Amino acid sequence: MNRLFVQFYTLRDRGILTDKPITYCCNGFSRMWDITEPLWLEDNGVLSVEQKELFSKQDEIYVSLWYAYLVRYILSWADIYRRTKFIVGGPMASLLYMIKESLPANIEVSCEDLESFFDIELRPNMWRVELPNITDLQLYSYGISDSCYWGKCTFCYQETRGSKSNNEIDLDSIARSPAGTVCLAHPSLTNSQIKIFPELDFSNKKYMFYVRGDVETYDSFIKTLPKVPYPEKLIARIGIEFPSNRMYRIMKKGVTVQSQTKLINLLDEYGIRKVLFYIVGWQELVKDDMTEARKFFESLIDIENKRTLHSICKLCYQIPPRISDGQAFFYAYTNPDGEAKKLNNDYYNLVTSRKNTQINDKSMTNSEWSMRLL
Ligand code: SF4
Repeated sequence: MNRLFVQFYTLRDRGILTDKPITYCCNGFSRMWDITEPLWLEDNGVLSVEQKELFSKQDEIYVSLWYAYLVRYILSWADIYRRTKFIVGGPMASLLYMIKESLPANIEVSCEDLESFFDIELRPNMWRVELPNITDLQLYSYGISDSCYWGKCTFCYQETRGSKSNNEIDLDSIARSPAGTVCLAHPSLTNSQIKIFPELDFSNKKYMFYVRGDVETYDSFIKTLPKVPYPEKLIARIGIEFPSNRMYRIMKKGVTVQSQTKLINLLDEYGIRKVLFYIVGWQELVKDDMTEARKFFESLIDIENKRTLHSICKLCYQIPPRISDGQAFFYAYTNPDGEAKKLNNDYYNLVTSRKNTQINDKSMTNSEWSMRLL
């Protein structure tokens, strides 16, 4: 049986806050590479003559999927190499799983670790990551959970399942992993998980993570941050969405404008870098929401500094997933009308008038944008 493991990486020539090129390892299917050395492929899906030859000899090709756009390469390979079975796993596999019936017969989707295919039991200190021989700044993921402990936001499709306890987070393995930025992959770190920060290895690494701006998160940070040796090596990603308390109740966000502001200002005091995410496209907006949104920006102590990025995207709703023209579709955009349309435009202008703003469209996912902080 000939088997190959394909690992994508993305290359960006520079970030906004750094002139250095960035390489992002889209890992997350395999927890360790004892099974096979991966074939590293850039995310343009282009195969060299030798790689085409290699593909044609395989019975099974395991592919780690991080971004939805990578699906199109897998669909195209499945069409060209029809006698080869493609087993797709990794962070985006759960989305692809929803359309597994529409996929070609030689594509199998798995939400399990790669190791589970070979009955390899994962034990502490076994996790490792290897990076391609590229000297640019590196970013890779350590998976903590693919579900959110909150899981109630009306616009989000995160499920609430279990998450690693602090004991299960393999700090020794992370410390041994290569220099770079570790994305602690989790839709939102729990208050308890924040307490591991002082134990992280900061000698050659930074850490990126999502957190919720609620009161409990603030309490956890205010107790933990004085013990973190290099807080400036942390990068927090926080969903602001639309900062009005009425809208937070409608979207069941479980935060208030005040709790969000307090957390952001606290992180700023410690020199922590932040990506703040906003959403435009709400039909429910009224004038008072915009007044509150303006006050939100005024209440941030230093939003124009180089440590804070603002990222705005459009509100989506889930559609029955489908494949068309070799692409996978999972979402469609909302289209507010009347007064709401004008208010959304005002909100868009308010957010994008910040110094460091990125408009987040299909070609730029949240994760890619966050890389610009490195
Ligand atoms: S807190 Fe974030 S990840 Fe969790 S449900 Fe809300 S938007 Fe989704």
